[in-house]
Amino acid sequence: MLVVRQAVVGPFAENTWLVADSGTGDAVVIDPGGEATRVLGLAQPDFRIVRILATHGHVDHIFGAEELRRRTGAPFQIHAGDEPFVRALPGQAAGLGFGPARSPEVSAFLADGDAIRVGGHEARVIHTPGHSPGGVSLHFPADRLLFAGDTLFAGSVGRTDLPGGNATELLGSIRERLFPLGDDVRFFPGHGPGGTLGEERRRNPYVGDDAPRGRFP
Ligand SMILES: [Zn+2]
Ligand SMILES: [Zn+2]
Repeated sequence: MLVVRQAVVGPFAENTWLVADSGTGDAVVIDPGGEATRVLGLAQPDFRIVRILATHGHVDHIFGAEELRRRTGAPFQIHAGDEPFVRALPGQAAGLGFGPARSPEVSAFLADGDAIRVGGHEARVIHTPGHSPGGVSLHFPADRLLFAGDTLFAGSVGRTDLPGGNATELLGSIRERLFPLGDDVRFFPGHGPGGTLGEERRRNPYVGDDAPRGRFP
């Protein structure tokens, strides 16, 4: 069975996810935004963190990556489009009140279509730019789960006014890459509660079926 555990971390209340196969004990951490000791605790007592993934490179999603990488020995991966954010982390973290940070060492870049194994389960990397150039979503097709980062929220969408953001790309990512995954897919966003893709397709005021095409946050 695939197990999902959550920790809300850091000054921006970012969702860090632990996704684990209860059969093999293998786990991945998605978006290690800080508070590494608490995140390590999510894996206790059953699971072993074998990989650390970031949906994108904003500080609130990668602040804890280097500490977690050091303490677990697990490789850290992110899309190459967001590498500039990784390099800029120490300066941005200080400016946003996160405190001192080191840029995480990237073991390998994620690319659209990559398969990520979590024990006996598999996730696919979907490039979903718009909130940031290298934003990705992680889809577990057989488990009907999606980790959407800051691309899609319950009743909202990610902001596009940060460096490299693009509103047209964001709406295209959601409508053309995420909604076709299926109405029954449960999604877990980078902030706040999740839901199902069907609920967002029907009711999301920015990107749902009835959203006025000109309206955007
Ligand atoms: Zn973000
Ligand atoms: Zn965020």
